[in-house]
Amino acid sequence: MPELPEVETIKLGLEKYLVGKKITDIELLDNRLLQDPELHLKGAKVIAVKRFGKGLVIDLDNNYSIAVHIKLTGQFIYQGNEIKKSPPSIKLVGTLPSKFTRIIFKLDKNANLYFNDVRRFAWVKVLKTSEVKRLPFFKELGPEPFKDLKIDYFQKVLKKSNSAVKSLLMDQKKIGGVGNIYANDALNLACIDPRRKASSLKDEEVKKLYAAVHEVLKRGLKYGGATEINFVNALGQAGKYLEHFLAYGRGGEKCYNCSGTIKKIRIAGRGTYFCPNCQH
Ligand SMILES: [Zn+2]
Repeated sequence: MPELPEVETIKLGLEKYLVGKKITDIELLDNRLLQDPELHLKGAKVIAVKRFGKGLVIDLDNNYSIAVHIKLTGQFIYQGNEIKKSPPSIKLVGTLPSKFTRIIFKLDKNANLYFNDVRRFAWVKVLKTSEVKRLPFFKELGPEPFKDLKIDYFQKVLKKSNSAVKSLLMDQKKIGGVGNIYANDALNLACIDPRRKASSLKDEEVKKLYAAVHEVLKRGLKYGGATEINFVNALGQAGKYLEHFLAYGRGGEKCYNCSGTIKKIRIAGRGTYFCPNCQH
């Protein structure tokens, strides 16, 4: 599932291309996504794009917002005259609109924003901007790296937890934005065994892990996210973090920290990759 770097990558693209554009029409191809597609959307101008954890919010100039969780396979693809030289990946996106296009936001200046979702787990809600923070998903979201995740809080939340440290990192109510890929890689970078009880980490290890979480997310963002299933940026293009994974998806391969071999196990049902040689 897309994590903080992937959703931030989408956010940066949408911010660049959508802000200042007006929604001139809506074509709803999946009726389950919106009840009345024209209500509050038609004629409104985009004034800001925000990200909360793995959620996206598009603010409009009429005090309404579009809140979206792309879940496993949601994609936003912008098409406009200014980006003709930067075409989307046909392999990941298809020819637009594709059979997985659920909503087409028609914009002024002949631009379109396509919302695709293969698996249909994504949700889209149109609501008053002032009510966005009251959506359960946003309300329950823990502090995020690069925003409000402070070391003191991180330390406290680890000390209080009986879960495996990896599961804790992925708990969106405790820490927003970190999922399976970056939890695996942060633990490898910090040389911490993902199975360890969160509360067993020593102060030095907590600091190391805190820094590692920020470092791997920063790398993820630098490479435009990881395209695992069908993640694409706002222009429909793949991210390259996949080529820079530290542990995630590298079972049987050499660890970059030492001469050990990355092993795959399961923690709380999720594929977990770590190096038994250097992660203690
Ligand atoms: Zn190692």
